Amino acid sequence: MTEKAGVVLIVVFAFLIAGAAATAFYETYLTEPLESLRDSLNLDVWPHHWPLLAQVFLMFFASEFIWYWLHRAEHRWSVAWRLSGHGAHHAFKKLNAINAGANHPVEYLWLVLPSIFIELLFGVGAAASGAVLLTVAQTAIVHSNLRLNARVMGFLFTTNAWHIRHHSADREESNTNYGCAAIIWDRVFGTFCDGAVREAGIGFREPSTMEKFLMPVREPQGSVVAPVSNRV
Ligand SMILES: [Zn+2]
Repeated sequence: MTEKAGVVLIVVFAFLIAGAAATAFYETYLTEPLESLRDSLNLDVWPHHWPLLAQVFLMFFASEFIWYWLHRAEHRWSVAWRLSGHGAHHAFKKLNAINAGANHPVEYLWLVLPSIFIELLFGVGAAASGAVLLTVAQTAIVHSNLRLNARVMGFLFTTNAWHIRHHSADREESNTNYGCAAIIWDRVFGTFCDGAVREAGIGFREPSTMEKFLMPVREPQGSVVAPVSNRV
């Protein structure tokens, strides 16, 4: 087994344990107090009576709405770019399906925020898990190294062509298509762009694994995609 494969296995194992612990804690200690809090604040408005699939898509587009603004903030403000380690995800010169999960460890905290926020606020339940699965599958597809595009599906959902443009090594091109799974919010808020891209990455070269890991504290030499004040 290579060193990189070993690191990936350890990270996956750690996330599985952390996920199981968080679920057990939520079910044991938080479910009931949150239910009574929602009752008292009149936040018990989630349409639990809808068909499950409709709830899954509602949760999917709602969490993508929050992610759209978090992601846009990462590209807009240096402090958000640094604190999320988002540059590490953009640093790869070649994309493939696994790149969807190739994030700096601290960015996983950002990635789970939308779903956790909506779940805590509205008590969505099973549909939240379905939406997370849909998001993970969709983000794997949009990072895969394939020329996939679909005009009809693409009205609501992000396609490869559009997400690869977001990974462009040109900052202006990269600051488009923030929706990693749903493109509809880019259409609504004016950041959608259906343009070609010449090269992916954050600059002319791909940083080493250690440089990617250090991105919350130091931007690699030659980086041009980071918010301006981050560059060395
Ligand atoms: Zn990004």
